[in-house]
Amino acid sequence: MKRRELFSSLTSSFTNNKEEKLETYIRPPYFKAESDFIDVCHTCVEKSCQSACEVEIINIKEDGTPILNFSNSGCTYCDECASACEPNVLTLENKKNINAKFSIGLLECMSWNQTMCFSCKDPCLDDAIKFLGMFRPEIDDALCTACGFCLKVCPTDAITLELINT
Ligand code: SF4
Ligand code: SF4
Ligand code: SF4
Repeated sequence: MKRRELFSSLTSSFTNNKEEKLETYIRPPYFKAESDFIDVCHTCVEKSCQSACEVEIINIKEDGTPILNFSNSGCTYCDECASACEPNVLTLENKKNINAKFSIGLLECMSWNQTMCFSCKDPCLDDAIKFLGMFRPEIDDALCTACGFCLKVCPTDAITLELINT
């Protein structure tokens, strides 16, 4: 999913081992089960997870559930949304990595096409973007926390994310 597509298709469908169609979204990384959002959030008036987020990346979907929007910033894993959620859909004990896999498109990336660019490297505080030589950046899945900070800085939208079912 490219940056510009994030709003139009923040959903991904796939089949689990029970052959049921599931949908998933980029959620604040403190939930136990996707079903908790659906069951509880529509009854929550305060939406305190959203107001607690200092980087303002939490949007509330039409069904009342929170989703992350990386178009202006990324998640600092600050815990504030989980601390603020009184119904306990988000809890500190369920803290985890964001449910997305990030990768760099070789055709779109300027570096992979012999134009020097390190725009994504500095914002990655986890040092998950490794350059092989000067021109071949790759994201190390073992280090990437899916924070989203690299997404908005890429001048050619070469960084994409794939939602993962958790
Ligand atoms: S504060 Fe908790 S219950 Fe309310 S919308 Fe956010 S995640 Fe859902
Ligand atoms: S952990 Fe912090 S930065 Fe991330 S969504 Fe929650 S409040 Fe926002
Ligand atoms: S999403 Fe991964 S690669 Fe991008 S800045 Fe965050 S940790 Fe680094």
